[in-house]
Amino acid sequence: MTTLTSMDSETLRSRHDAVRAEYEAFKARGLKLDMTRGKPSPEQLDLSNAMLTLPGNGDYFAEGNVDARNYGGLNGLPETRRLFSQMIQAPADQIVVGDNSSLALMHGTIVSALLKGVPDSNAPWSEGAPTFLCPVPGYDRHFAICEELGIRMIPVPMTGEGPDMDMVERLVEDHAVKGIWCVPKYSNPSGETYSLETSRRLAAMKTAAPDFRIFWDNAYSVHHLTKDHHTIPDILALCAEAGNPNRAFIFASTSKVTLPGAGLAFFASSPENVRWYLERAFFRTIGPDKLNQLRHVRFLKDHAGLEAHMEKQAQIVAPKFEALLQILEAKLGGTGAAEWLRPAGGYFVTLNAVEGTAKRIVSLAKEAGIALTPAGATSPYGQDQHDRTLRLAPTFPSLSDVKAAAEGIAICTLLAAIEKQAG
Ligand code: PLP
Repeated sequence: MTTLTSMDSETLRSRHDAVRAEYEAFKARGLKLDMTRGKPSPEQLDLSNAMLTLPGNGDYFAEGNVDARNYGGLNGLPETRRLFSQMIQAPADQIVVGDNSSLALMHGTIVSALLKGVPDSNAPWSEGAPTFLCPVPGYDRHFAICEELGIRMIPVPMTGEGPDMDMVERLVEDHAVKGIWCVPKYSNPSGETYSLETSRRLAAMKTAAPDFRIFWDNAYSVHHLTKDHHTIPDILALCAEAGNPNRAFIFASTSKVTLPGAGLAFFASSPENVRWYLERAFFRTIGPDKLNQLRHVRFLKDHAGLEAHMEKQAQIVAPKFEALLQILEAKLGGTGAAEWLRPAGGYFVTLNAVEGTAKRIVSLAKEAGIALTPAGATSPYGQDQHDRTLRLAPTFPSLSDVKAAAEGIAICTLLAAIEKQAG
């Protein structure tokens, strides 16, 4: 296919007319499609329906004769911590099981750091001008936490194997830089996985702030889409080897394993950070929902059970990704109107359109009945300097809706690119 940039003005005009006609025909179908929601579909939730009757009337004693109905157990049941130890890549005794939202744990951790500081802090973070490095494209909710809590954000581009580490290493020479957001596997939204080299450099780099923390949000650890299961290194071990044992805070949850509204969230870190975390948690709660922890143990049983369950998730989700990617390739491949990565896991596809067209694509799509995540959402402060990145979420809609939406998105992307090229 001829790229748009190599077309003469006559060819471009006739291509515009043809794509505009395709767009009008798509619009006339009067569809109502939504590609914004990075959440499991009802069929995925059905996979966990057996949990709704667990642990069952009469099954409430956990290991060591612990009555799961009662208060206590701030760090979580030992059998639950063991079950998720491999997924989280931390020893069971360095894991804390919270209630259902890892985002809540991230928010709480930052609030505590702002008010109290963390181990290795000379003062609470709020006494300085706390700043986070934000790999872009990234997760809008991470950025929203920073905005809400008054933390300055500096965007750092992703490279295909994690953030641009030359830039990160330069930026952490500033003592105000206290943290970095990382989604190390099947990242939200680019789908990329951090390389060993990136992880090593993050663990070992010299930071001006002695209390710098990596927020290692491993939300998609077991969310594979292909047989090529990506692996990431044990970040706690890398940090310890590099002489920075307290550098990483790990977060994870079962939101997209079992039930997002009734899952388990996890914090894991060095023994000293875990002590610090539990000392703060003590003032917030007398204990988490241990019946839900027991429910997860009864349902998933062990790591092999967890993997088998995730395989069923993949069978539902992978065809939707495949359909989306095939349609993008068929309609946009070779045109130069967009680029995208083929993710091997996670929940999103990132579409990088022609610079300066993302907002236009979102508005064309809206007019044609397709809701897209606002352009800019994947950047701090909602500002995509290049106005080109779109986050597509194919898990929630039905397969036929994903196909229809993919077609519409491709038409809008092409039309916006042609308009831009024609000036
Ligand atoms: N972290 C990432 C990277 C996510 O993409 C999401 C949800 O989309 C979350 C965290 C939310 O996790 P939780 O449901 O555990 O709060």
